[in-house]
Amino acid sequence: AKGAAMVTAVAYRLIEQSRQIQQTLAEFRLSKAQLLEVKKRMRVEIERGLKKDTHKEATVKMLPTFVRSTPDGTENGDFLALDLGGTNFRVLLVKIRSGKRRSVEMHNKIYAIPIEVMQGTGEELFDHIVYCISDFLDYMGMKSARLPLGFTFSFPCHQTSLDAGILVTWTKGFKATDCEGEDVVELLREAIKRKELDVVAIVNDTVGTMMTCAYEEPTCEVGLIAGTGSNACYMEEMRNIEIVEGNEGRMCVNMEWGAFGDNGCLDDIRTKYDQAVDENSLNEGKQRYEKMCSGMYLGEIVRQILIDLTKRGFLFRGQISETLKTRGIFETKFLSQIESDRLALLQVRAILQQLGLDSTCDDSIIVKEVCGTVSRRAAQICGAGMAAVVDKIRENRGLDHLDITVGVDGTLYKLHPHFSRIFQQTVKELAPKCDVNFLLSEDGSGKGAALITAVGCRQRELDAQ
Ligand code: BGC
Ligand code: MG
Repeated sequence: AKGAAMVTAVAYRLIEQSRQIQQTLAEFRLSKAQLLEVKKRMRVEIERGLKKDTHKEATVKMLPTFVRSTPDGTENGDFLALDLGGTNFRVLLVKIRSGKRRSVEMHNKIYAIPIEVMQGTGEELFDHIVYCISDFLDYMGMKSARLPLGFTFSFPCHQTSLDAGILVTWTKGFKATDCEGEDVVELLREAIKRKELDVVAIVNDTVGTMMTCAYEEPTCEVGLIAGTGSNACYMEEMRNIEIVEGNEGRMCVNMEWGAFGDNGCLDDIRTKYDQAVDENSLNEGKQRYEKMCSGMYLGEIVRQILIDLTKRGFLFRGQISETLKTRGIFETKFLSQIESDRLALLQVRAILQQLGLDSTCDDSIIVKEVCGTVSRRAAQICGAGMAAVVDKIRENRGLDHLDITVGVDGTLYKLHPHFSRIFQQTVKELAPKCDVNFLLSEDGSGKGAALITAVGCRQRELDAQ
């Protein structure tokens, strides 16, 4: 009888434990009504960003890009492109050929940006970039080439033309001094002392992605990045972009939706774990939506939950290891592996072991569920944002039904086993009047920058006439 009582006690403890874990995760499980609310609030912030009166204090900045059309196949020439702000820093040579046999040929090299450079002085950062360009030209055997350059710079910039962009604020892992409030094209030009490189365009990665996909598929008028960071752009009617003169045609707007929620409008769905991630970040209080749905932060949310569950004695025998205290241990690639359906629990444990976490079989089940819950919410709120965008485009055009293509890039979207599916499902559910086709971009940042640079060069020639 004593034995039976002990078994019952253990069973009760387990049931109670599992109830508490489920209660913790329940905060991350959003209902359709909540997601519709996120969509609605995104729409409100979009309007605030577009309107002259509210633009200044708006959180979703809706930045004009001066890209007025998608490519038409007549783009031609050789271009250099830089890609800064994603998972890798790269320098690229892009050869675009127009005409019947249009083609794009690319060569690129990845360079590391040491953390001391990302978070050092602006001068050091730009000198490093220029050093990489010159190494690349060497490597390609074209030391003295004269080439137009497109700069994919994946941060919010206030643009007044295609080739001027004032950095609003650093995001993700960057924090170099003396850059915010400066025109980054000027910073680059100053660092390039050699004059044969002509910086023609500064390009957000979302815009490069949209342009790359539009080159293959003309119905592509939206770009999405679900990677280290999160953001979208789309072709907005000029008449709605009040801070740019003119009412004719369309212009691509870089939404900078990562800052959605910075005015507190998402506080009711943010958990204490989201707050902890924010407090631990380089940019506290900023990019709150991005911190709930992009690759750089998902692992951090998971880590905060695991720390809490461990403190409460539900995981890792109640022992918080040094590893668990380490920022950034759960990169997107690990989350993707842990959540892969093909992986047996034993393999999940092996991954945790690799990260330095000693787990029991029960631990690994809980960890996997935590990861799944966090990434599902990420895909859903990202989908809610996209639903707001496509519905806005549909209304702009006075349509009952819209067919549209979204060009997509980013490690989270491409690597994660479930993110893209849940994201797409959510868009479908929340924007039922839109048929959205998703197209993966192949190297959007490089190709897109070159395409935009080609358009910029042509415009310059026209202006000179
Ligand atoms: C930046 C955006 C960028 C996105 C994806 C965000 O942190 O603010 O400009 O498009 O990351 O790279
Ligand atoms: Mg990128």
